Amino acid sequence: MPVCQSCNKEWTWKQSITNLRNICPYCGTKQFLTEQSRRWNGISTLIPIIFIFFFNLIIDMSITTVFIVALIVSFVTIAIQPLFMELSNEKKPVGR
Ligand SMILES: [Zn+2]
Repeated sequence: MPVCQSCNKEWTWKQSITNLRNICPYCGTKQFLTEQSRRWNGISTLIPIIFIFFFNLIIDMSITTVFIVALIVSFVTIAIQPLFMELSNEKKPVGR
């Protein structure tokens, strides 16, 4: 779970999921995602698409099944996202 870099308190899973603006619920400091966790965020949005694609190659799925599987995979991806969240006090530019 992510730890606030300002007050060192760990956010709960629910706090991380609902905290869209990344304001610490304990000290109110704005937190930023580290470059690594932002990269993970980007990759995690692709996971459902890749998953569906390969799943479809193995099993011939109907549109309804594809939709349900996509929904489940997306939900799981969002649910595990706080586990990979890393916080920083400063917004660092994306290194190139
Ligand atoms: Zn804090």
